[in-house]
Parts: sequence; C-alpha cells; structure tokens
Amino acid sequence: MTRTREVPARAAAVAVIGGGIAGLTLALALRREGVDCTVFERSPEPAGAGAGLQLAPNATRLLHRLGVAEALRAVAVLPRALRIRGWDDDLPLHTTALGDACRHGYGAPYYTVHRAQLHRVLREAVGGAQVRTGHRLTDLTEDPGGVDLTFASGARHRADVVIGADGVHSAVRARLAGDAPVFSGSSAYRGLVPADRLPWAAGEPEVRVWPGPGRHLVCYPVSAGREISFTATVPAASAGEESWTAEGDPAELAAAYDGWNPTVTRLIAAADTVRRWPLHDRESLPDWVTARVALLGDAAHPMLPFLAQGANQAIEDAVTLAVCLGRAAPADTPAALRRYQDLRLPRTTLIQRGARRSTQYLHRPDRPHHPGATADPHGLAGLRAMGWLYGHDAEAVATGEAREPLTGSTAP
Ligand SMILES: Cc1cc2nc3c(=O)[nH]c(=O)nc-3n(C[C@H](O)[C@H](O)[C@H](O)COP(=O)(O)OP(=O)(O)OC[C@H]3O[C@@H](n4cnc5c(N)ncnc54)[C@H](O)[C@@H]3O)c2cc1C
Repeated sequence: MTRTREVPARAAAVAVIGGGIAGLTLALALRREGVDCTVFERSPEPAGAGAGLQLAPNATRLLHRLGVAEALRAVAVLPRALRIRGWDDDLPLHTTALGDACRHGYGAPYYTVHRAQLHRVLREAVGGAQVRTGHRLTDLTEDPGGVDLTFASGARHRADVVIGADGVHSAVRARLAGDAPVFSGSSAYRGLVPADRLPWAAGEPEVRVWPGPGRHLVCYPVSAGREISFTATVPAASAGEESWTAEGDPAELAAAYDGWNPTVTRLIAAADTVRRWPLHDRESLPDWVTARVALLGDAAHPMLPFLAQGANQAIEDAVTLAVCLGRAAPADTPAALRRYQDLRLPRTTLIQRGARRSTQYLHRPDRPHHPGATADPHGLAGLRAMGWLYGHDAEAVATGEAREPLTGSTAP
C-alpha cells in the first residue's frame, strides 16, 4: 500500500533534526502524505554504524507500506524463532515462533538486519536532495509564527514545524525539558562475525538469547545471512565514550563471559573486533510537544534495548506523526502535534518501562523458569502472547481505522 496524498492548501514547512532511523522514516512518511521536509544531520556522511537490529511486524508492516519492502528483504534475514537458552548449558528454555508463523499471525515479517543496511535502504528511498549533512543543531527559538534553527556551521533555517529526531542526547529535547540521559550501569559490546566461522548460527536462522547472572548475550544472522551479529550486555562502572564506532576490548569481553557455555565463548572469540556502547535511557516525559516542536524516536523515549523495540517504536512514531501532520491544515499544527503525542506517549512509556524491567529477567542470578515451555515447543503460544506488541498497526490507529490494543497478557 504505497500512496501519496494531495498536498493540503499550504503544507507546513517541516525541518527534521537527525537523519537516523526515526528522521529518515519520517521523511518518507511525510512525503507519502504530500508534505515536504528537510532533514538536518550532523554527520558529514551518515553511515548508520553499529551491528544488528531486530525489526518486528509492528514496524515492518509500516516500512513495507512506505515502499521499501523489496530493498529490505534483500538485506534482511527471516529468523525462524527466538530461543531463550541456558547460560551454562545452552539448553533451550523457551521459544517464541517467528518466521512464517509470525508473518501469518501478524501480517508482516520479523526481520534481523544490519543497522547500516537498514539506514542505507531508508537513505536511498528518501534521496539525497532532502537530507543536509554536516548540520549540527546548536540552537532553536520558537515564536508564534515559526521556529528559528542555528547550526554549528553558522547556517540558519526557519521552519513552520521542527521535529527533534536527534537521538538519546537530543539537542531539541534539551530545549523542551531539563532532564538528562540516565546511565543504566550496563554497556553493550557489539560484534559482527563472518557467517562461515559460525555455521551453527548461519544454518538455522534464529534469535538466540542467553540470560545469565548479571549479564546476557543475544545473537542472530544479518546481511542476508552473511554475518552473525551479537550484543553482549555487561555491568559497567561508568558510561565512558558513547559512539556506534567506539572500540571495545575483546579480551575484556571474553573475561566477562568466562565460564559460560562453549557456544557463547566461541562466538565471542570469533569476533576480530568489538564495539562498546554504554546503555542509557530516560524517564518518560509528561509532554513531548510544544505548538511547533515535537520529539520523535530516541529523542522522545530512549529505551534500553532489552525488548528490541527502540527503532521499531521510532518507526511507529514517524508514521503516526506524518499522518497527524499531513492531514491537518497549517493552522492546526499545534493540535496535530498534540494528537501525535496522545497516540504515542502511553504506548512508548509502557514499552520503555517494560524494557527496564526486562533487566531483572535477563540478568537474574539463577536460570529463568518457563513452566509452560514444554507444552509449547514450537513457540506458538509464545508468539500469540506478543500480540499487544507485534499486532499493533500505528498507521491504522492514527487514521482511526483501528483502536490501539495497549495491553495484553504479556504487556510489561
Ligand atoms: C545495543 C543496542 C541494540 C539495539 N537493538 C535494537 C533492536 O534490535 N531493535 C530495535 O528496534 N532497536 C534497537 N536498539 C535501539 C535503536 O538503536 C534506537 O532506538 C534507534 O537507533 C533510535 O533511532 P533514532 O533515529 O531515534 O536515533 P539515532 O539512531 O540515535 O539517530 C539520531 C540521529 O541524529 C543525529 N544527531 C544527533 N544530534 C544532532 C544534532 N544536534 N544536529 C543534527 N543531527 C543530530 C545523529 O547523528 C543521528 O544520525 C538498540 C540499541 C542499542 C544501543
């Protein structure tokens, strides 16, 4: 369902700060609504670095409708299941079916992708003309008629509406709220290993999760099966440098998983390099919007990656905001932004808090117990329990075609 709507009488001029997954998806979704926007990205060459990302049906259905289904399919992997395994013995403890069961159940696939490849797919779909790289926002002033933006380069720009899609350390959020990111006490090491070094992981595409005492590890294939991505979360005394490209120490990582099952220790040993990313989130805000400024994605609701939903929620946000803005006359912009917030804030707050609470499950001192697991070896019940998350259609909710199923049996 790719469609472009008529441009409203005079569409608002929208400036998006940040050309990450949130900002680029918004640019695509606004275009479909007939609204032009300019994306300002601080990096000279936005590369979307980092390792893997899980994309669930709640986001892939929206990306498909934005016209990138084929390009996404070409770089993605369709994992058959998500399996929780014992940290010490690697035995399966719980299964959530993905693959065809997920596609049939929720009408869209569950993918694992390389972050840089998803970024490239979005970038190519948006096109170069709309994205101004090398523009780091330093200041923003809102008045009743518009918003003035100032960039580090000295460039200035005036827009009717400004969307802060500039990530967990958002400069736009700094103008709206006085809060700061909260370091979680954990760092994520991320690695990519050529698949031929790990035939067990490449041959059976699955998301494997090993919860363990004080730390956990997740791995899955990406790059159309050519690479295995892993994220190993460990306790950390301080945040240190934050960058998708900050080097980590492989020996330090190996020491953190000493005594774990050989599948895990060999996986870590197979990586030539690892990158380290301190994990932050923030408390949810009572308000994300003013009359002319709104926050989107991690700028609005940074979350720990333990439900693998940060990017998925950014994509839901982007489509919702585009529908709200695209169907409002410019004079109604404040009401459109408020509607966007009303639609998104309760769901993202629930998921943000759920991600935080998942730490207790993932880092528990003993093995997690799943009494029903033997009765559900293929994980179909596990998949049904994710309906509140994967079954959500943010676009249909924004257009009024569906009501939001906020809670479910496993809503956190
Ligand atoms: C270890 C780890 C694993 C994860 N796994 C998953 C997963 O499996 N599934 C999932 O859905 N999510 C996952 N996430 C979360 C996901 O990465 C984020 O939620 C997502 O990247 C948010 O996208 P964003 O566009 O809002 O922010 P970002 O990706 O941070 O993009 C922000 C952009 O804004 C730019 N910018 C910043 N400041 C300025 C400025 N002042 N001026 C101009 N530009 C600026 C930045 O350069 C960047 O391009 C994971 C996160 C981590 C850390």
